[in-house]
Amino acid sequence: MIEPFGNMIHDPALAMTEEKLSVLQVNVGSMCNLACKHCHIEAGPNRHEIMTRETMKEVLRVLPNFDTLDITGGAPEMNPSFRWFVDEAVKICPHVMVRSNLVIMTEEGYTDIPEFLAERNVEIVCSLPYYSENDCDRQRGKGTFKAVISMLKKLNSLGYGRNENLPLDLVYNPGGAFLPPNQSELEQEYRTRLRSEYGIEFTRLFAITNNPIGRFGEFLRRSGNYDRYMQRLYDAFNPSALQGMMCRFQLSVGWDGKLYDCDFNQPLGLTINGPENISGLTEIHSRKIRFANHCYACTAGSGSSCGGTTA
Ligand code: SF4
Ligand code: SF4
Repeated sequence: MIEPFGNMIHDPALAMTEEKLSVLQVNVGSMCNLACKHCHIEAGPNRHEIMTRETMKEVLRVLPNFDTLDITGGAPEMNPSFRWFVDEAVKICPHVMVRSNLVIMTEEGYTDIPEFLAERNVEIVCSLPYYSENDCDRQRGKGTFKAVISMLKKLNSLGYGRNENLPLDLVYNPGGAFLPPNQSELEQEYRTRLRSEYGIEFTRLFAITNNPIGRFGEFLRRSGNYDRYMQRLYDAFNPSALQGMMCRFQLSVGWDGKLYDCDFNQPLGLTINGPENISGLTEIHSRKIRFANHCYACTAGSGSSCGGTTA
């Protein structure tokens, strides 16, 4: 039996965002060159939703209210206005980061993106579900591991993961219906293996719990594991992870300009308590967060967010 997530929050302040938000996370489209099994956006080559330049201008209008711009997708590089958007953002935001699958940077038309991002000191966050080829290719598609390894080497050669102005973060997520292991131990394991086998350096590893929505949610339902996984998340509920839920410090913008508390609320259509679209956003103040039971993925064990563990 699982309690509604909202019942687990006894301090009303934790059900609200902070007055000052730090991160503006922007999903510039669902189009992607990959179709990973764990994708909560259900992104892929058959998706064509992309953020228009008009909507990007609205994002830039509110960006000075935030410390960090976190650009995600899909494969954000596939948005035709990606470079323009990054160029405009770095002029007004001290910290711009891009979530990339890196495979896209090995494909025609995108091979100069590493230099483009390095010249602008843009942080790169890259999904690498595991340091073994089999595990990685099983989740993300055949050939993806080799492509990511070759791109990590190139990024290292540009200073990424070696120079403190060019952070290169990796993202681990479980290959099935289980919780991630300890993040710092796993980071050490990744570091040892990637360094000894490929000479690769990186800055940090984020261990993220799979959220039971999108393609991963479908997989859980198809394999008869949905209820068991939800129970596992519920049983692992950690009250001390409530403080660090990422929705308390950020605003998330969908490809069509709709506003959400986080990227996970996007596919569920849970827009914020406030203006529905960024075009209607004039003031940013504390708001009540829209929770549902998928939120248990953020509070299980050591907690989880787009920046890794939280508790
Ligand atoms: S997880 Fe990332 S790389 Fe994989 S399909 Fe989704 S958006 Fe694309
Ligand atoms: S899923 Fe989103 S709204 Fe729910 S706890 Fe996590 S970050 Fe907050």
